[in-house]
Amino acid sequence: MAILLGSIADDYTGASDLANTLTKSGLRTIQTVGIPDAALALPDVDAVVVALKIRSVAAADAVSSASAAYQWLHRRGAKHVLYKICSTFDSTDDGNIGPVTDALCDMAGGGIALVTPAFPETGRTVYFGHLFVNGQPLNESPLKDHPLNPMHDANLVRVMARQSRGTVGLIDLATVAAGSAAVTARLDALRAQGFTAAIADAIFERDLETLGAVVLQTRISTGASGLGLGLARALVNSGQVPLQAGTTTDTVCPVGGLAAIVAGSCSRATLEQLEVAERSMPVLRLDPEKLLAGSDEISAALSWAGEHISAGPLIVAASASPETVSRLQSRYGREASGHAIETATSTIAAELVERGVRRLVIAGGETSGAVVDRLAIPAFLIGPEIAPGVPVLRTVGNVQGDMLLALKSGNFGGKDFFAAALAMMH
Ligand code: ADP
Repeated sequence: MAILLGSIADDYTGASDLANTLTKSGLRTIQTVGIPDAALALPDVDAVVVALKIRSVAAADAVSSASAAYQWLHRRGAKHVLYKICSTFDSTDDGNIGPVTDALCDMAGGGIALVTPAFPETGRTVYFGHLFVNGQPLNESPLKDHPLNPMHDANLVRVMARQSRGTVGLIDLATVAAGSAAVTARLDALRAQGFTAAIADAIFERDLETLGAVVLQTRISTGASGLGLGLARALVNSGQVPLQAGTTTDTVCPVGGLAAIVAGSCSRATLEQLEVAERSMPVLRLDPEKLLAGSDEISAALSWAGEHISAGPLIVAASASPETVSRLQSRYGREASGHAIETATSTIAAELVERGVRRLVIAGGETSGAVVDRLAIPAFLIGPEIAPGVPVLRTVGNVQGDMLLALKSGNFGGKDFFAAALAMMH
């Protein structure tokens, strides 16, 4: 069956965020890891989110990956493709939001792309083209100090114009408030005048519903999960997707097998979750000093796991307090220590899967990315939510057979997150 909505996400966690939003809005959704194989067999779904890592790479590389993803989605019948960006418009004057949007419009046969990063649920609103983050203009928000993409201009019409080949216009809030016919008329007028993109204002979810209904009639849009929400509601409201829970029965079928948790996050929430879990399941704390010093800490961890795993779920954690982390970082460097520990946690996760683990919880955004890449999982079907922003994921096309995963960004989830996750993963 052809998919109704395609999306190309510029990073993995952004892809999950969107896939989760679409599922909660009633769309059966798959998230792929990278550009899928042409032959990947999909269950019946409404939406596919192709997760890429192109936010901070050279613009030409971002364009070529996004173009390949577009071709895959187009071949699968996606009528509309949303280029999913960060709701803080994370980018530089060189890109990559402008160049990728231009390239996708060209591939879709020209025209104009509506662009909005608004996502009111997370405090991102756009007014007269200016992006506000929790009420602060973008250039006065903490994003002004972003380590990779510092944002010094809140006026997205200007920001987008600096990155784009064409000219960028504005669809202001008064037009959005007047409804979809008014927005369509404004978009058509801008297109007739030669504009190639239009920043759209949005303050409330109802604005995104209006914009979603408009862009559903077009081929390409650019936005954050807020525009995804608008598109999903438009698909449901127009009757193209029946009003239902977005999870499929596939996502809740048990997979059996052993269960394990691997933690690489050092965020406060994860440290607390580990403390709570330690009362009810075996926990191995890795010694990062030993890992970095090259001793055989990974084999030691695996033999410990071998002794405990058949008795029930266990946890292997690299996580440590901020003081311990900064000691290690000052000795070995931030990147080198992070990378070495990600390699260790993903190796341990992969070995546990080799030994029969089929239900796997990973704590940490980077850690999750490293594990998913290492396991070479092609795609996930999005299941029910364990905690806000963390759904149960069921693998699609996995060589080891079906697995259930929960990929938790460090600060997500309540104190009993690990037990809550395992209780939903059978
Ligand atoms: P979060 O989602 O909490 O930011 P991430 O997995 O994205 O978690 O990032 C945590 C980073 O810290 C990873 O690169 C991980 O390898 C690294 N790390 C884990 N344990 C330690 C430790 N004990 N010392 C230093 N770095 C660590």
